[in-house]
Amino acid sequence: MSEKTEKERAPKDLKQRYATVRQEMPCQDPSARARNFQEVALGLEIEQALAEAYRCIYCTKPDCISGCPVGIDIPGFVHKVEAGDLAGAAAILRESTLLPAVCGRVCPQEEQCEAVCKVGRGKATKGPVAIGRLERYVADWERAQGNAPAPVIADPTGKSVAIVGSGPAGLACAADLARAGHKVVIFEALHKPGGVLVYGIPEFRLPKAIVAAEIEGLQRMGVEIICNFVVGLTRTVDELLEEFDSIFVGAGAGLPYFMDIPGENLGGVYSANEYLTRVNLMGAYDFPNNDTPVVRGKRVAVVGGGNVAMDAARCALRLGADEVRLIYRRSADEMPARAEEIHHAEEEGVVFTMLTNPLRYLGDERGRVTGVECLKMELGEPGPDGRRKPVEVPGSEHLYAADTVVVAIGNGPNPLVPRTTPGLETNRGKIVAQGETGKTSVKGVFAGGDIVLGAATVILAMGAGRDAARAINEYLETGNW
Ligand code: FAD
Ligand code: SF4
Repeated sequence: MSEKTEKERAPKDLKQRYATVRQEMPCQDPSARARNFQEVALGLEIEQALAEAYRCIYCTKPDCISGCPVGIDIPGFVHKVEAGDLAGAAAILRESTLLPAVCGRVCPQEEQCEAVCKVGRGKATKGPVAIGRLERYVADWERAQGNAPAPVIADPTGKSVAIVGSGPAGLACAADLARAGHKVVIFEALHKPGGVLVYGIPEFRLPKAIVAAEIEGLQRMGVEIICNFVVGLTRTVDELLEEFDSIFVGAGAGLPYFMDIPGENLGGVYSANEYLTRVNLMGAYDFPNNDTPVVRGKRVAVVGGGNVAMDAARCALRLGADEVRLIYRRSADEMPARAEEIHHAEEEGVVFTMLTNPLRYLGDERGRVTGVECLKMELGEPGPDGRRKPVEVPGSEHLYAADTVVVAIGNGPNPLVPRTTPGLETNRGKIVAQGETGKTSVKGVFAGGDIVLGAATVILAMGAGRDAARAINEYLETGNW
């Protein structure tokens, strides 16, 4: 039988599909949610999920798959949702992703799969299929059933792999290696596994119970997780290589950058990393019921324009600030944060002060921050990254009062493993690793995620973990390096 042409494959109700509006995500009311840590986005209802799935037009050559860094069979799972087969949809997701409930929530879909969905093209479009919202819907449904089928695990190979770091890169790598029958041990420096998913991204965007459920699944597969173990201090990579056949380093980019301006050592000036770790991982929002405090500023300035800055600003509101001002040196168009997060922060009342850069932080006699002196900026010529460079406007100094400052201008790779592993090649602190395999300059050692890419995304880290797992399997099987 000859293959169907695109026209023959196209659903007969194409017009109706195009005319169906993109389903809005129900959310907590902005004024209420700005004062609580519960999840902002509430998830689609079943009728909405079915209506959204119906918007897919069954492209013969679907671009969405290549738009997804881990190549999820997007049309496959969307069509299963349309047919009401949620278990089938979940099974398709599981083929490619370990963390669908996480990625459905935090992936920048608008720059990835949804950016290339054909339904989103053309003048009369009602927007691309809401692939991320459907992914979240299916993953949440599966978790609510509580009976996700256990993954098939190969017979024990007798080989063992140590994973450094339990962020998305390490978790994804561990899952694939455990499936292949290897003994896998994850070493994590913090007291809880999950990496940025637990210490960085706040509860109101990614409930920690979801991350915990995914990690429990991994432990059920036989993966051992040892926390409070700092590789490079507790034991070095070389020492681990004496015990394990291979190592994957997924140590992330948790080293905060500062601007190196006066006043950064004043009390009340935090790196976003410390601020978010205190609030999310250590539960400082519930001090003194939890041991860790955090300054609950009334006038908080957050410096930066990425997801991290947005998370810090929204946490500050939830900790009771009267005013949270986000200071960013470029214009709103250049902000690297996800559009949805910017929109949510605006709705909640964060004040956006664009084209402005801190010059110094001012303090009182007790050494506590009292304000931020800033300069106005304007946009000049595009830099090497294509974004227009901010240029100082002379004489534009001005002051904002602030009793807390959170600096969120970026993170560098965690330096401990590179520093304590002789022969491990690095470039500006990032471990140098081959693209498709994650192979490093040290035999048997692979790396991936933010420690290689610099601060990137959850899905890219997961993809790197999976690529490395394939290469580690081959290395353990053949011994070829
Ligand atoms: P990480 O998640 O950083 O995990 C690394 C782990 O290694 C950590 O647990 C660390 O404690 C551990 N470790 C480090 N050194 C050692 C050592 N020597 N020994 C043992 N363990 C060690 N991405 C998105 O896609 N969408 C978002 O909305 C988004 N929001 C973000 C918000 C914030 C606040 C931050 C900080 C990042 C955000 N990102 C987002 C980026 C994303 O979270 C990261 O790209 C991703 O987590 C990187 O994964 P990873 O596994 O490489 O590293
Ligand atoms: Fe469906 Fe959009 Fe993918 Fe086409 S590109 S298959 S419409 S989700």
